[in-house]
Amino acid sequence: MEPTTFILFGATGDLAKRKIYPALYNLFVDNLLPQSFFLIGLGRREWSDETFQANVERSIREFSRREAEDPALLKPFLRLFRYCVLDAGRQEDYRKLLQMIEQREQELRLAPNRLFYLSVGPEFFETIAANIQESGLGSADGWKRLVIEKPFGHDLQSARDLNRKLNKAFAEHEIFRIDHYLGKPIVQKLEVLHQTDPILRELWTGRRIANVQITAGETVGVEERAGYYDHAGAVRDMFQNHMLQLLMMLAVHFPNDSADEMSRVKKRKVMEALRPLRKQDVVESVIRGQYTAGTIQGTPVTGYTSEPGIAQQSMNDTFIAAKLRIDDSFWDGVPFYIRTGKRMREKSTRIVIEFKDALMPSFAAKSGSKAPNLLVFEIGPKEGISLRFHKKDAPHTEEFEPVHVDLTANRGDVQEAYENLICDALRGDPRFFAHWDEVELSWVWVQPILEAFEDNLVPLRLYEAGSYGPAESDVLLAEDGYHWWFDTKTEQESNTKEGEPYAYHTNY
Ligand code: NAP
Repeated sequence: MEPTTFILFGATGDLAKRKIYPALYNLFVDNLLPQSFFLIGLGRREWSDETFQANVERSIREFSRREAEDPALLKPFLRLFRYCVLDAGRQEDYRKLLQMIEQREQELRLAPNRLFYLSVGPEFFETIAANIQESGLGSADGWKRLVIEKPFGHDLQSARDLNRKLNKAFAEHEIFRIDHYLGKPIVQKLEVLHQTDPILRELWTGRRIANVQITAGETVGVEERAGYYDHAGAVRDMFQNHMLQLLMMLAVHFPNDSADEMSRVKKRKVMEALRPLRKQDVVESVIRGQYTAGTIQGTPVTGYTSEPGIAQQSMNDTFIAAKLRIDDSFWDGVPFYIRTGKRMREKSTRIVIEFKDALMPSFAAKSGSKAPNLLVFEIGPKEGISLRFHKKDAPHTEEFEPVHVDLTANRGDVQEAYENLICDALRGDPRFFAHWDEVELSWVWVQPILEAFEDNLVPLRLYEAGSYGPAESDVLLAEDGYHWWFDTKTEQESNTKEGEPYAYHTNY
């Protein structure tokens, strides 16, 4: 890795504390930071370097996946951190910052490669990018990169406006848009797994697949984010970005694609093939929900409109489910069902591929068994990949029993999404970031849904907190003869069952 100065806007904020510092610490321990590296934290708070370092240390002790007890590691790590007071709108603060960076680059004889990380509210993205440009911070004789957090716009037009403004200071290849679902280890391994695992290669073809289900359930409610969430809803907060990115990552794996085709080109092709919805048709394939009072893991919780900061008559969506079709030869006839919501029964992000023709028709008729074979990707908080299929139980010739094969080796402590993403940004590897084409095409696809919700063309379906969403979301699948997997107690128990060891060699 090349020498790098990491310039962190929002260094005093929540995301930096919970995710960024612990990720940097673990990269440091794993020797995955550049040899020549330092970080300047920015915020309006009048902190000294010592106060900043003490805060970083606290955050690591509280949130790092590894214990931070070894002073031989912690001390040199904390010495990489400096602090500078900066108000995003004050130009003189950027000039002061430039002087500080240049001085440090000279002292350490660093090439002026600068990574600007915007861990601040989206209202500052444009101002900060413009000030980086105007102050000369971005015009040194090295590379510059902009890492930017979500949300990227609140509709198609605002996203285009923001992108145009960012492009005045940073070219597309210099912009790394974070979607932390793309940093999750299982998501990052999808392509390798598909290309190297002989069983999966054989199974993973559109003609064998009945349907694909992508679920991201949260048990939390709106928390302290009422002001933002009541204007965003599940459609902007989760669906337009994380859910569509998961769909792209899964759907790009066409078996005969040339290996050197870049992932962003393949992802764009998926979005271009996604059958568009017209505003008046949204009601047929999208379910809009909002939670009412209920019980989460034994604790009673209030309904959405009784949450602090939410208007009693709010029509905001806290749940969305949709049926999508990809019009290409590989996925022809395979429906994709996506759902995400707050205050759901379980916190879980999961992709289920349901296969056709579980049994030869003669067996199926004899046994009465309709249980299909499944490929399940547990993305978080549990991680793993498993195959579930039904095998004939020899001693009882009419019986079929479920077999659960674990395709993941026991990997122990795995890296966090932010470790993967920060490491990639430091290396300049854009594969697991959202390219503008994908962001724009996602907004294009979602825009009719936003408009249909705005005009109340889609009824708001209420669901009890602690459930799996409104009953209408089940009907969406039942119309096609399917159901959401792992919503019933029996299926959940089978899902938590330990898998049998996988005897084939896999690179995963
Ligand atoms: P936060 O806790 O409110 O922190 C905001 C940061 O911005 C603080 O460090 C604050 O520092 C700084 N700031 C505010 N006004 C400023 C100004 N005028 N000039 C310079 N700095 C200013 O927010 P957060 O939760 O860390 O979120 C940061 C970004 O990450 C947002 O875009 C958010 O949507 C995104 N994000 C957050 C999470 C999460 O889990 N927290 C998850 C995904 C995405 P001072 O008060 O010291 O100025």
